[in-house]
Amino acid sequence: MTAFKALGLEENLLKAITDMGFETPSEVQEKAIPILLDRETDMVALAQTGTGKTAAFGFPMLQKIDVKSRTTQGLILSPTRELCLQITNEMIAYGKYMPGLNVTAIYGGASITDQARQIKRGAQVIVATPGRMKDMIGRGLIDISKIEYCVLDEADEMLNMGFYDDIVEILSHSPKDKSTWLFSATMPKEVSTIAKKFMHAPVEITVGSKNKGSDQVTHEYYLVNARDRYNALKRLADANPDIFSVIFCRTKRDTQKVAEQLIEDGYNAAALHGDLSQSQRDLVMKSFRNRQIQMLVATDVAARGIDVDDITHVINYQLPDEIEIYTHRSGRTGRAGKTGISMVIVSKSEVRKIRTIEKIIQKQFVAKEIPSGMEICEVQLFHLANTIKDTKINNEIDAYLPKINEVLADFTKEELIKKVFSVEFTRFFNYYKKSKDLNISGDRSYAESEDKDTVRYFLNIGEKDDFDWMSLKDFLRDLLQLGKDDVYKVDVKDSFSFFNTDAAHQELVMGIFKDFKLEGRQVNVEISQDTGRSKGGGGRDRGKRRGSRSGGGDDRGGRQGDFKKRRGASSDGGDRPRFKGKSRRTNERPQSAGTGGRRRRKV
Ligand code: ADP
Ligand code: MG
Repeated sequence: MTAFKALGLEENLLKAITDMGFETPSEVQEKAIPILLDRETDMVALAQTGTGKTAAFGFPMLQKIDVKSRTTQGLILSPTRELCLQITNEMIAYGKYMPGLNVTAIYGGASITDQARQIKRGAQVIVATPGRMKDMIGRGLIDISKIEYCVLDEADEMLNMGFYDDIVEILSHSPKDKSTWLFSATMPKEVSTIAKKFMHAPVEITVGSKNKGSDQVTHEYYLVNARDRYNALKRLADANPDIFSVIFCRTKRDTQKVAEQLIEDGYNAAALHGDLSQSQRDLVMKSFRNRQIQMLVATDVAARGIDVDDITHVINYQLPDEIEIYTHRSGRTGRAGKTGISMVIVSKSEVRKIRTIEKIIQKQFVAKEIPSGMEICEVQLFHLANTIKDTKINNEIDAYLPKINEVLADFTKEELIKKVFSVEFTRFFNYYKKSKDLNISGDRSYAESEDKDTVRYFLNIGEKDDFDWMSLKDFLRDLLQLGKDDVYKVDVKDSFSFFNTDAAHQELVMGIFKDFKLEGRQVNVEISQDTGRSKGGGGRDRGKRRGSRSGGGDDRGGRQGDFKKRRGASSDGGDRPRFKGKSRRTNERPQSAGTGGRRRRKV
């Protein structure tokens, strides 16, 4: 507390800080606050996520504005609505003992009239997302011609999201002599450009080294075949029964699909991405915050700035296209002094990216193995034992005990324990007993039989029909209703193409192309003699053995927008035993939010 006082903060803020339970300033706060309080200056502050940047600009801004005036004096721009609301709430909490303070959040997806009304009442501080802010300035609903302080929070992310033009437009309505404070986790070129353009001799502050991740986070990677991604994810979750995680996918579509599959398989999961309505997103976030959701599957944009402490694992289901973003992802865990694990599921072709990330975060990854089925069974058994140990006895049961005792009278304690554990164990055991090793290194037989059960096809359409390998792959996958990794080695030439599927899908492929027309033209498929091995390249899309996927639930989700539709002919033999939902918190309501609305347990 005295430490905060030493930074030059006034009594009303110190009181709020005590209420919030902050004891010592974080490094970025220690460096930024005295300077910002002391003089009118521009500032560029680089600090990773979770280091307390909000307070680093929030406290000085609140101390410097005049609450007696109703003029807008401070503007904070942030990339997403979630973040905007988070900052607003923080600012309100900091300003708890500043009567008359009005902090207003301006963001898209909510009523513009309501927001305009709040502004009219006199907001000394506006926290806004760039899109809506520009819009409201354009309509004359907001006047920032008298602001003295402008914060660009998560500047790297705002630029990543394409807000450059909006920011330029917004700033053109602000006075030249204001102070601009730019906060960012990383410093890509775009950010230095904006700093040069809008700031005058900014004071620079760096916490930790540039772009470096949190020390509290351990980084692990798991090397699997691309098509085993989903199964690998499930195993990682099963091996960590108390997982509370954010799972990152590259696209909205994958995010939705992975979440749907997890829900279907009985996990407490939900999707968070930009195609959800605002109220759906709010519901998802609410359920996540109160732990009804253990696995939040999210896009980078949607998850940006999520400030939920205690996230145990960040799982990179796919690596981001821009490696820099990895820092943001892993920064979702290891917050507020806690430790966390950032896991990456990689295929062979991506392994070199791990080395690139290591350079950026200046930390080494640990190469880990996906746990085997039996290891998971063991973890789950001990988890169950501990859950039983920690369960508070419910005396409401007493009335029924005589009858229960009667039913179980013939068993000894040892037998009873065995039976109780078998309830859980048998389910996992049956599910995992035939599961294969998902780790590439340990999967020798896989490599040896690589070509055995794969079929290569020749197709008489190609580049001149406007296909490239990616779009043809999408096209085939949608047409055949196969999973994304079930069509592979797609090779597009000028007027023809090749692709592979497992032999198991041969009939399906031949059937569909029997009489198939594309824009009036007959499309022919023929089985090629060459298996395509020589063209595979870099380990991507390798073939696989038929029937080797006893784990089931692979990435085979069917057409877009119809995730539940699955083909019965898939290689996991149909009636595999599903296993029960995870986490069984006793107070859990069977209803979670948003797209994760249904929560079923399957046995
Ligand atoms: P960043 O913007 O750098 O990602 P935030 O400002 O969102 O980080 O802060 C992360 C979390 O740490 C928040 O929950 C915040 O309330 C908390 N926090 C910030 N400063 C302190 C502090 N000095 N002591 C304890 N907790 C803090
Ligand atoms: Mg922040």
